[in-house]
Amino acid sequence: MHLSVKIFIALVLSVVVGLIAGPDSLGFINWWIAPIGTMFINLIKMMIVPVVLTSLVVGMTGLGDIHKLGRIGGKTILLYLMTTAVAITFGFIVAGIVHPGVGLDLAQAGEVKIKEAPSIMQVFVAMIPANPVSSMAKGDILPVIIFALFVGVGIIKVGGERAKLLTKFFDACAEVSYVIIGFVMEVSPIGVFCLLLPVVAKNGPAVLLPLLSVIICVAIGCALHAFIVYSALAKFGAHMSLKKFFSGMSEAWLIAFSTCSSSATLPVNMKNCQEKLGMSRDVTSFVLPLGATINMDGTAIYQGVCALFIANVFGIDLSFTQMLMIILAGTLGSIGTAGVPGAGLIMLAMVLQTVGLPLEGLALVAGIDRVLDMFRTSINVLGDGAVCAVINETEKEYNNNAA
Ligand code: ASP
Repeated sequence: MHLSVKIFIALVLSVVVGLIAGPDSLGFINWWIAPIGTMFINLIKMMIVPVVLTSLVVGMTGLGDIHKLGRIGGKTILLYLMTTAVAITFGFIVAGIVHPGVGLDLAQAGEVKIKEAPSIMQVFVAMIPANPVSSMAKGDILPVIIFALFVGVGIIKVGGERAKLLTKFFDACAEVSYVIIGFVMEVSPIGVFCLLLPVVAKNGPAVLLPLLSVIICVAIGCALHAFIVYSALAKFGAHMSLKKFFSGMSEAWLIAFSTCSSSATLPVNMKNCQEKLGMSRDVTSFVLPLGATINMDGTAIYQGVCALFIANVFGIDLSFTQMLMIILAGTLGSIGTAGVPGAGLIMLAMVLQTVGLPLEGLALVAGIDRVLDMFRTSINVLGDGAVCAVINETEKEYNNNAA
């Protein structure tokens, strides 16, 4: 049986069993099942820093020269930012039509502690690693990316035999990382089941119902973005059939849905894009790790919906300028959103702060954040794949023209 089918079955099973088991069985589930899910997440996390570091360096050195690097880097970042800005707008449009949160009582959500959000400048400062080893140890991916970019540029600049030696070394390390990821993927259906079961058993349908409108808005926004923007990118930008694109991405999508982490899904996404969608290793090794960290379309949709939802709950009318500010802050904020579960909630705090919306509203969203995270992370990952497909195609055309 195909791996993505197995993962899907595990996902459906976890929902059915979770609903039957309910909160009464949480003691048993948390003791016996949840730790297996954590082990699975740890297995994936174990590979994040090695994959990001090695594949980015290999990706850059594979590009060969600084000009090519500048060309691909420029296109990639531009496309990532553009799709993110469009994504927030989709969030606004859907929430503007559905009006989530009208009539909701704030007291329902209870008290939730939210970490203080960094300012945009703090996000930029934190991108530069004072100590790359410490960033790797802490799993801070953005500084690791910046470090890898410098190493890659350094290797290209050094050139000659010494550069070849280092390139081979990083290439071999990347290869070993992919092999290990293959092992981890084999057990992913078990991991997915054990991760989702506690979430379903704990939340059940009753807790989700009052906030269903937000979930529906985020889900519709994500679906629209995928079917309009990604379909257009795949079809017109990458000349790829939609069936091929969406089915080729299915494993990555399902893993993103269940792990709520783009970083954790990165290894699977790389494998899918290379093996199922036939993208070049050079391009995927550069575009996807960058995307897993700076491209967060699903998170952007969620920020648009939640900002309007919170404004509705507190009876505030958002002005057009405030909406523009949310788009700008959300787009920049998505660069600093780590590809880990729940990171979007912290960046939402930054967005709310930017336009002066009450942070108390976060408590409402926090209660259903895990469910929202599933939708937004899958879109974050799909978006990386779609942009990567376009860059891959334009590079093919560029290489053909240059030949
Ligand atoms: N969990 C998301 C991701 O990994 C980030 C977020 O919380 O929005 O892509």
